[in-house]
Amino acid sequence: MDERAAVPVTLPRQNPTIAYWQDPPDPEIADYLSSSQVPEIADTVIIGSGITGSLIAWNLFQSPDHGHFTMLEARQACSGATGRNGGHTKAASYRSFHDNAHSLGTEAAVKIARLEYDNIKAVHAFARKYNIDCDLYSGDTVDIIYDQAQWDNSVKSIGAMRKAMPELLDTVARYEIWGKEEAREKFFVRGEECVGAIMYEAGSLSAYKFVVGVLKMVVQRGGELYTNTPATKLEKGEDGMWSVQTLRGVVKAKRVVLATNGYSGFLCEKFQGKIVPLRGQITVHRPGKNQPVSGLSTTYSFIYKNGYEYMIPRPQGSKHAGDIVIGGGLVMAKDEGVEEFGTTDDTTINQDISKYLTETTPRYFGNDWGDDHADGRIRQQWTGIMGYSPDGFPFIGEVPGEKNLWMAASFQGHGMVLCFMCARALVAMMGGEEEALESWFPDAFKVSEERLKKKFAGRLHTKPLDIGTKP
Ligand SMILES: Cc1cc2nc3c(=O)[nH]c(=O)nc-3n(C[C@H](O)[C@H](O)[C@H](O)COP(=O)(O)OP(=O)(O)OC[C@H]3O[C@@H](n4cnc5c(N)ncnc54)[C@H](O)[C@@H]3O)c2cc1C
Repeated sequence: MDERAAVPVTLPRQNPTIAYWQDPPDPEIADYLSSSQVPEIADTVIIGSGITGSLIAWNLFQSPDHGHFTMLEARQACSGATGRNGGHTKAASYRSFHDNAHSLGTEAAVKIARLEYDNIKAVHAFARKYNIDCDLYSGDTVDIIYDQAQWDNSVKSIGAMRKAMPELLDTVARYEIWGKEEAREKFFVRGEECVGAIMYEAGSLSAYKFVVGVLKMVVQRGGELYTNTPATKLEKGEDGMWSVQTLRGVVKAKRVVLATNGYSGFLCEKFQGKIVPLRGQITVHRPGKNQPVSGLSTTYSFIYKNGYEYMIPRPQGSKHAGDIVIGGGLVMAKDEGVEEFGTTDDTTINQDISKYLTETTPRYFGNDWGDDHADGRIRQQWTGIMGYSPDGFPFIGEVPGEKNLWMAASFQGHGMVLCFMCARALVAMMGGEEEALESWFPDAFKVSEERLKKKFAGRLHTKPLDIGTKP
C-alpha cells in the first residue's frame, strides 16, 4: 500500500467514463462559464464543484458579509465522485461505531453516528425544501449479511449503540434485525445462503441532479462558476494573498477552499499519501424478468467476509425506474484491488470488477432474478475517484501552517452522509464560529498536524469488527 499511496496525484483526467447520471449532462450548468477569464481578485476561491464545494458556496451565501466568490471546476460541473456515485444516503453507522468508540471514546462515536444520521435527514430535507428534482427516495435500507463473524459483531455493535444512545432508539439507533428465513422471504434474497438481514433508515437520490440544483441556486444568487477550468497551482504571496493559477488566468484570493476530495494532493503536497485516491466502480442492471413489477421496496447492501456491494433500485417515476445500480466489488480485483488505490484514472473500468458486478444480481436474487431483460443485463458502467485518509475520517478546517487555505475533503465512500454537515461546519470555522460546533461536530474530523503524520494502510471497517478482543 505504501507504493500506491506514493503515486503522484494528478488533476482530474479528461474524457472520463460516462456516468448514468450525467448522461446527458445538464445543459444549463455542465459547461457554465461566468466569463472567459477568471477575475483578477476574489474574496474566496472554492476549488471543486461536487457536493462539498457546492454546499460550501451555498452556506457562504447564508452569511450577510460573504463577499465575492469564485468556484473553479476542472471538468464539467459536478463531474467528480459526486456525479458518478451510487447516490446511497446510507450511514451504516453500526459498522464503524465499535471501532470509533474504541479509538475515540463512546461520546465521540455517538457524535459521529448522529452527524451521519443528521446529514441524511438534512440532504433529503434540503432537496424537498428547494424543490430539487433529484429522484429522492427516503425510506429503509437493508444489509444482507453472508458471513457469520460479520453478523455476530454487527449484532453486538447495534447492542452497544442502543446502550450508548437510549434516547435515539427511534432514529440513529433504530435497527430491525431479521434471521435467515425472514430475510429470504422479505427481501427476495433466494440465491446464496445469508446469515440474516439488518434494516434501518436511509435513502437514495441522484447526487448529480441534487448538486446541479444547488449550483443553479448559487449561480442565480451571484456566485461565479468556471467549469473546464482546472486550478493548476496554488501559491501564497508575501502579502498573505493566495494566487490560483488556471488556464483562464490567475485569480488572487484572501482565502482558498479545497473541495477537491481525492485530487487534493495535486494542489497541496501535504495531502500526497494522506488523501489517497481510490477508484470506485458501478454497473447498472436492467431488472430481471422475475423482479417485482413495482420495483424493490428498499435499497440494499450485501456484506461478505472481506467486502461488500451496495445496490440502489431506481425509484418509480425516475428515468429508467426499476434499474438496479450496483457498486463495490473492489476486493474481487487482482490482489484484492490494491491497484485501484492511488489512481485518478476514471477514463477506464476494471474488467475483473466489471465481470464480478455483472454476475451479482442472479447470484443474490436466485430465481427472483429470472431471465435477463431483452435489451441485456447491463445498461451502463463507469468509474469515479474517491479520497481515503489514514484514519478513515474527512479533513475539515484550515490546513496546518497555511493561513487562509481551508479544506473539506476525503469523504471515503461515504460523502452522501458526511459532506452536507461538513460543509456547514467548515463555513462556521471560516467565520470564526468554531465554538458553536462543539456540541455536534467531531474533533476527529478536524485537520491537524497529528493526523497528517498517520500512515495510510487502506480502507477501514470492511473486515469483521474486532469486538470482544478490544475493550
Ligand atoms: C463509484 C462511486 C460510488 C460511490 N457511491 C457512494 C454512495 O452510494 N454513497 C455515498 O455516501 N458515497 C458514495 N461515494 C462517495 C461520494 O461520491 C464522495 O464521498 C462525495 O461525492 C465527495 O464529494 P466531494 O464534493 O467532496 O468530491 P467530488 O465530487 O469528487 O468533487 C471534487 C471536484 O473537484 C474537482 N477538482 C479536483 N481538483 C481540481 C482542480 N485542481 N481544479 C479544479 N477542480 C478540481 C473535481 O473535478 C471534482 O468535480 C461514491 C464514490 C464513487 C466514486
